[in-house]
Amino acid sequence: MNKINWNFDNTYFDLSNSFKENINPVPVKNPELVLLNKSLASELDLDFSKVTNKELSEIFSGNILPEGSNSIAQAYAGHQFGHFTMLGDGRAVLLGEHITKLNKKYDIQFKGSGKTTFSRNGDGRAALGPMLREYIISEAMSFLDIPTTRSLAVVKTGEDVFREKTLQGAILTRVASSHIRVGTFQYIAARQKENELKTLLDYTIDRHYPEIKDSNNKPLDLINLLIERQCNLVVNWMRVGFIHGVMNTDNMAISGETLDYGPCAFMDTYDPKTVFSSIDQTGRYAYCNQPAITKWNLARFAECLIPLINKDQEKAIKIATESINSFEKKYEEKWMNMMRDKLGLFGLDDKDKFLILDLLTWMHEKKADYTNTFCYLMNIDQKKVELYNDKDFINWKKRWEDRLLKNNSASEKSMELMRTNNPLFIPRNHKVEEALEAAEQNDLKPFNKMLEVLEKPYDKQERKEDYQYPSTSDKKYQTFCGT
Ligand code: AMP
Ligand code: MG
Repeated sequence: MNKINWNFDNTYFDLSNSFKENINPVPVKNPELVLLNKSLASELDLDFSKVTNKELSEIFSGNILPEGSNSIAQAYAGHQFGHFTMLGDGRAVLLGEHITKLNKKYDIQFKGSGKTTFSRNGDGRAALGPMLREYIISEAMSFLDIPTTRSLAVVKTGEDVFREKTLQGAILTRVASSHIRVGTFQYIAARQKENELKTLLDYTIDRHYPEIKDSNNKPLDLINLLIERQCNLVVNWMRVGFIHGVMNTDNMAISGETLDYGPCAFMDTYDPKTVFSSIDQTGRYAYCNQPAITKWNLARFAECLIPLINKDQEKAIKIATESINSFEKKYEEKWMNMMRDKLGLFGLDDKDKFLILDLLTWMHEKKADYTNTFCYLMNIDQKKVELYNDKDFINWKKRWEDRLLKNNSASEKSMELMRTNNPLFIPRNHKVEEALEAAEQNDLKPFNKMLEVLEKPYDKQERKEDYQYPSTSDKKYQTFCGT
């Protein structure tokens, strides 16, 4: 299959069997290509122009394996809703790492590719709806400029999968800078073999953080770098109202990319306690809890590396704890700057925090739409303008305008800052559902139309108002784990 330009390296495959199981995807009956991400393919220097749709279906179902790939299921563990469990790729295989002409390395993974040694009681398969959902939301995140895994293709397998009802089976091809997770470190740390832990540490640094490969305390530096990346990531999520929904440690990538799109969704009405996932009964992964959970997950990561930080365990714990405890201050600073950007504010003012919190409190009390409130401030036409005639809002807006006058820069600069930080288009939940329902009935038009809108989330787009507003229905939106 070299006509496609696959260029596989298999460095994870080359690690010892403690890290993975060597296994091929389980062939499927009747694969049919549903989606192929041509622009991502070209970013990866892949060329599909010389292959037929039939061949593409065979390739992205795993029926034909690309030349040079050595597929594996990766071992990992994880804290799921706080409870430690041994996991691993139970329904995914990593084909290998594809290297582009510019020498960038990407994991190519099939999700829904059949049973592995880690499948436990699962069937190793995935259903079409959730795979299409991951495709559209991960692509939307990428266009929002938020670090994320991406989606290259979806095929239907031609086989049924059995959940609460019978569904069409599907396989998603996921592209990631790697699939190393906090849970990967937890798995290896639990085995208590220092040489394996060192191998994983060096592998990870080589792949993601080569700048610290000669440092004096690599594990500590890695913790600090991951704190920085994850802090940036969660601030970005908060910026656009993204709720991951299942921030278990196995779903937190060491690369700092958003990983695993299960019950995730975007918040419409501003409410910090928003939870969409049907299984998140206690709101552990609610919008406002995401920073605290990020810190909690980072602490689990740091624990894994204790034996490598210092021979003296007490000392090691003290050093790592100091790092982890730097999270809040870092987050607060980054979050404040992000909110200043959303409001077009330059420089710092003592009263900025009150200004920001008062807006959020008003939005919460008045059930204002998070995204559209910032659009209103950017003078984007709004349907529900009467909400913004509210006396408290007008008073707040006056304070904001006074603060804008303190910006030592032109108002266009301020507007530009807002325009690059406040999306006009997010994947509105009811539109996602509409697109998925049609796609499951073989009509991909709504899906592709929506994808096109989401490709330019920060631009004004004519006649796309439909995608700008939340659903008018009062029904609470609920999501389910990617099954
Ligand atoms: P996730 O909820 O997708 O993060 O998956 C959590 C764990 O459950 C991972 O180890 C998955 O591989 C595994 N898993 C999820 N669905 C299935 C399935 N249908 N068959 C086998 N394993 C699964
Ligand atoms: Mg997962």
